[in-house]
Amino acid sequence: MENSDQPLKPATLCVHAGSCVDGATGAITTPIFTASSYTHPNPTNQNTYQRYFNVPNQRAVATKLAALEQGRDALVFGSGMAAITTVLFALLKPGDHAVFQEDLYGGTYHFVAAELTRFGMEVSFARNQADFVAQLRPNTKVIYVESPSNPLLHCVDLAAIAALGKARGVLTIIDNTFASPINQNPLALGIDVIVHSATKYLNGHSDLNAGAVVASNEIIARIRPCAVNHGGMLDAHACYMLERGMKTLALRVERQNGNAGKLARWLQKHPAVSRVNYPGLPDHPDHAVAARQMRGFGGMLSFELRAAAQADAVLGRFKLATAALSLGGVETLVTIPAKTSHVKLTAAERATIGISDALLRVSVGIEDADDLIADFEQALAAR
Ligand SMILES: *Cc1c(COP(=O)(O)O)cnc(C)c1O
Repeated sequence: MENSDQPLKPATLCVHAGSCVDGATGAITTPIFTASSYTHPNPTNQNTYQRYFNVPNQRAVATKLAALEQGRDALVFGSGMAAITTVLFALLKPGDHAVFQEDLYGGTYHFVAAELTRFGMEVSFARNQADFVAQLRPNTKVIYVESPSNPLLHCVDLAAIAALGKARGVLTIIDNTFASPINQNPLALGIDVIVHSATKYLNGHSDLNAGAVVASNEIIARIRPCAVNHGGMLDAHACYMLERGMKTLALRVERQNGNAGKLARWLQKHPAVSRVNYPGLPDHPDHAVAARQMRGFGGMLSFELRAAAQADAVLGRFKLATAALSLGGVETLVTIPAKTSHVKLTAAERATIGISDALLRVSVGIEDADDLIADFEQALAAR
């Protein structure tokens, strides 16, 4: 691949990196190797086995993702949570401390609060850069962030977090699910480890669950034994689907960036909407940070209705957009975070982090922007 001086661009890597032409038949897509056993010793003199994360379909996806994230190596998991939990178990031991961003993905928060602490790890939560500095302890081993975050699209200054980690000898991890490697490459900003829910943008078609980790060879070598022991790999069929989805990642994300920007600006002018959270809007509190570290502002946004009592009615009136959980697919999905991702918090806790009952979260799809805006117009129209 790297046979010219000019590094290949993301759209090219989406199509070509990792994917292989079959030597036996000339088929131009990676064959699906279903074997659970490979003759031994094979040419690399390494045991090949799906749970060792080294079969051809897993390597195809891992190579494509590592290239897109400008990392050296990657591991592909059966879900985003399998990737996240394996990385944390691999990099922490009892007595170690880790600092997590406060507005974490719900599944990650519950794992950190319920499981990591049960195994003797110390955890604390931080809201901003000053907080991250203040929370560091002599036994801190990991700083973990999400940017943009769910559902208010807060953006963390990744270069500053990376510098803090390097200065204090602490590994930095980011969940890069919301941005995708098309919009943001945290390793290039100095972050050590990237985790993904590949269920979302990487696959992009709302039809499988997968996860991934990207890092240097050294860090992947630390994570791999834990991954093998925990066994959360992705099987060859699903790897093939994920590889196929990733070929259109750049196209989809570029369209989603454009659609989300148009919808955000349209919503901002709508009389029924009191506030729009989208990092691409100049009045978003983290717009400057986002503009510095992202190539595009992403396909996720949230907005607040003036009348909270209308939230269910508005959700029920969408015709193109669908009221459904999850995100990152080709179809536009809308949720009410107070009733879905943040339902386990008390109303007071939600108020502290700024999630009201009037907040709707949108995962903007690849439909025509005018059709989407027309759907939002009829759903928001006063009745
Ligand atoms: C969905 C999601 C996860 C969890 O991924 P699964 O594939 O559902 O296990 C983790 N982080 C973020 C930001 C997510 O959106």
